[in-house]
Amino acid sequence: MPDNLSAPRGTADIYPPESARWNELETRIRALAERYGYGEIRTPLFEATELFVRGVGEQTDIVTKEMYTFTDRGGRSMTLRPEWTAPVVRAALEHHLFASGPLRLYYIGPIFRYERPQKGRYRQSHQFGVECFGFAGPEADVEVISLAWDLVRSYGIADASLNLNSLGDAVCRPRYRQALLDHFQPHLEAMSAESRARAQRNPLRLLDSKDPDDAPYIASAPVPESFLCAPCREHLDAVVQYLELAKIPFFVNPRIVRGLDYYERTVFEITSSVLGAQSSVCGGGRYDGLVASLGGPAVPAVGFALGLERFLMILQARDAQRETPRSGVQVVALGAQARTILVPIVAELRRRLREPTFVDYGDRKLLAHLKLADRNRARYALIAGSEELARGELVLRDLQERRDRAMPLGEPRVVAERLEAEL
Ligand code: ATP
Ligand code: MG
Repeated sequence: MPDNLSAPRGTADIYPPESARWNELETRIRALAERYGYGEIRTPLFEATELFVRGVGEQTDIVTKEMYTFTDRGGRSMTLRPEWTAPVVRAALEHHLFASGPLRLYYIGPIFRYERPQKGRYRQSHQFGVECFGFAGPEADVEVISLAWDLVRSYGIADASLNLNSLGDAVCRPRYRQALLDHFQPHLEAMSAESRARAQRNPLRLLDSKDPDDAPYIASAPVPESFLCAPCREHLDAVVQYLELAKIPFFVNPRIVRGLDYYERTVFEITSSVLGAQSSVCGGGRYDGLVASLGGPAVPAVGFALGLERFLMILQARDAQRETPRSGVQVVALGAQARTILVPIVAELRRRLREPTFVDYGDRKLLAHLKLADRNRARYALIAGSEELARGELVLRDLQERRDRAMPLGEPRVVAERLEAEL
């Protein structure tokens, strides 16, 4: 294949056996979200560019340098979805979904960001996320955090940590912002160019810098907790208490600021040491002002987005030592006569069994068939050779226990029933 036809940088093809891991994760996510009473929303892959400029904030990294923006044939500026929250709010407004009270939605699908591809960072990646609209109190914050944490816990991921912070609100955030600016101002010359650029626009983002030049000034920066107004303080305390009640372990981490402009009060991230530099697998928080800023009513909201690629990387690291469990049957036909006899049996097995039925139609030796069975991670091999057929039998080999058993050859339905009872 010529080089210029390969998949674009920062994108990935997903194929077996990897695609099975994606399906398993997505199935579990859907079941979890539905158990929490969240309904799925799907929105277009592209939207009017203005939605993201306004929704995500003009000065965020996403808008200034990461968007895939193009002009369509009608001369309109369109952007591939770089995040889901603004489209979800747009759709909820467009279809008057806020009119009937609180609203709980989840989504699962691709996002597009023009980033430098590296481990855990891609140009097309996939997110699962939830948005809970209509509750200003700390209960909703804890509900969405619990949902994310349940997913982590259901996979028994041991090295994940939940980091929690409060960014304050319109009342107290300006004071914190000013305090940060005063703190960083005298050092800006010594800090990274990126931080110098960010200082005026949003000094909170300086706390997010990974540049080693910035580290000493970040370490000594004031923390938001000491600036919180009384209602924000109470909100944070209540979130902390609810999390303790729910026995969800967490750290209050004053350096969590999140990349998007719309967060207020609660912000949180779930990180894992497995991920290296891109350590965050899930990020979220409260964004009470967003719905109104997109032209809607004042609807409080809280949500998160979780990266599926990074989540699967964590699972992969955990499972590296584990073998994929065997499941299903490899049907082995040795010779043309056996093949003819087995074709209707295969069809019947595929109708009856929940586990997969594998078959190879090639003329191969037993050993070659068994190699394929191993590659397919089949639990059993159902073998038909000429000697067995002459006796009116098939051989069922348990590939895990390494045991053979003779099975009478009969009507396909009867063979399938017997096998079903074995599995
Ligand atoms: P980062 O600090 O790693 O750039 P972010 O703050 O941009 O993350 P969010 O916009 O909050 O991330 O997205 C939530 C989650 O989506 C991240 O924690 C990550 O798991 C995933 N994610 C975001 N961007 C990418 C990407 N380019 N490639 C893979 N996953 C991503
Ligand atoms: Mg990013």
